[in-house]
Amino acid sequence: MPLLDPTVWSGKAAIGGWKATSGGTAPVIEPATGEVLERIGNATADDVSAAARHAAKAQPAWARLPYTERAAVLRRAGDVFAQHAEEIQQWLIREAGSVPGKAAFETDTAAQECYEAAALVSRALGEVLPSAEPRLSLARRTPAGVVGVIAPFNVPLVLAIRSVAPALALGNAVLLKPDLRTAVSGGVALMRVFEEAGLPDGVLHVLPGGADAGAALVVDPHVRVISFTGSTAAGRKVGAAAAENLKRAHLELGGNSALIVLPDADLEHAASTAAWGSFFHQGQVCMSTGRHLVHQSVADEYIERLARKAEQLPVGDPAREQVALGPIIDAAQRDKIHGLVSSSLEGGARLMAGGTYEDLFYRPTVLTDLTDASPAYTEEVFGPVAPVRAFADLDEAVALATASSYGLSLGILTGDVMRGLDLAERIPTGLVHINDQTVNDEVVAPFGGVAASGTGARFGGNANIEAFTETRWITARTTQPFYPF
Ligand code: NAD
Repeated sequence: MPLLDPTVWSGKAAIGGWKATSGGTAPVIEPATGEVLERIGNATADDVSAAARHAAKAQPAWARLPYTERAAVLRRAGDVFAQHAEEIQQWLIREAGSVPGKAAFETDTAAQECYEAAALVSRALGEVLPSAEPRLSLARRTPAGVVGVIAPFNVPLVLAIRSVAPALALGNAVLLKPDLRTAVSGGVALMRVFEEAGLPDGVLHVLPGGADAGAALVVDPHVRVISFTGSTAAGRKVGAAAAENLKRAHLELGGNSALIVLPDADLEHAASTAAWGSFFHQGQVCMSTGRHLVHQSVADEYIERLARKAEQLPVGDPAREQVALGPIIDAAQRDKIHGLVSSSLEGGARLMAGGTYEDLFYRPTVLTDLTDASPAYTEEVFGPVAPVRAFADLDEAVALATASSYGLSLGILTGDVMRGLDLAERIPTGLVHINDQTVNDEVVAPFGGVAASGTGARFGGNANIEAFTETRWITARTTQPFYPF
């Protein structure tokens, strides 16, 4: 039987087993064709509350299992992801509009996240402290309890598993709320993998739903830590609700990342590097290169090369054709992209490639002659748009790069690596890549943004221990002390 056999989950959500939801069902749509592939349960606040109660009951026994048993479940989950990679990739292609290479990146990363999470469990989770008293004094990492994970549509599997796997491994129960538009590849797939891997009942729940289900998850009293990935606007609401309810929220939000091209950069390779940064997954990536800042001495050549590359890239249905770009997730998102491009052109920007669409297929677009008033340059487009702006010297490059309220990723192309590193020191972001574009992710690296891109939360490697545990101070002495009472 296929792992994702719809007879198991069609029209349902995982709330202590696959069950009908109180919000009815929602269609699972293939953006490339508009075809309804299946239906999925649409969870409401009531479903979230039921799942949270169930998770809180199941969590202590899971946390008390020998670490070797929790690690084994995570290792098996990695194996199940690897064994069923092709099947999961088909959903990533059809439901999320991913090209096959991006889908394979997601399943490979998902397996890797599980293996790394398995290894987290056997690390030292505390330290022995000095004490002025005759006692043993320890700082020990303990599970947070129930962790709520809210994930977006664009890289649905990776952005869910990067929190789900380490949170589970460290002894937490998890409530995952995927975006309704990618509920199978970002929700059902994870639940089915962990079911196959032998995760005890009640430790993981999957609640596809809208913003109301997400909001219910944030305020539920059983949920102690929130891991939210999504837009800055929604992240602000999540942060406010979490603060009101005195719980920790890790917020991974939007971006408008700059790629700075210095005059000594290798322009031969730059067009390919730059095109990947702006057009990979139709530009629907938080780290997408949203601003190309190019030294004026090489700007014309850079724009010409990038526009030529954009014109050559095939766009179409990734399930049926060999394409570089698939569809935009839905019409609302496409209209938002086109609105930002059109209003920038009306404001005087020049179109060097693209700027057109058919159905949900948006052509890779290159814009120049941009100003601080061009929305496609100043705002996060979340579409395949490469705005290019020239600068005269390093000070101007720094001023342009730091003018954004976001601070997720930064790329610098230069023939002088040390100059690139020095320049990076002047531009605060969570991630920086010298001689590479802005879209990079590895499971062992700390991932996260600053300023409007997030709370400085980090996932990946050791950062996961910080994210999904509490620190507890523990002392023990042989006899009770004397008090003057
Ligand atoms: P979105 O904020 O609208 O939705 C993301 C998730 O949050 C969805 O599951 C949604 O249902 C839920 N949600 C929405 N409002 C909520 C609320 N008030 N309370 C709780 N949950 C709520 O995001 P989107 O526009 O669909 O996704 C794209 C955005 O995500 C972009 O801004 C992108 O940059 C960002 N993103 C960031 C990262 C990162 O790691 N920094 C990664 C991927 C995407």
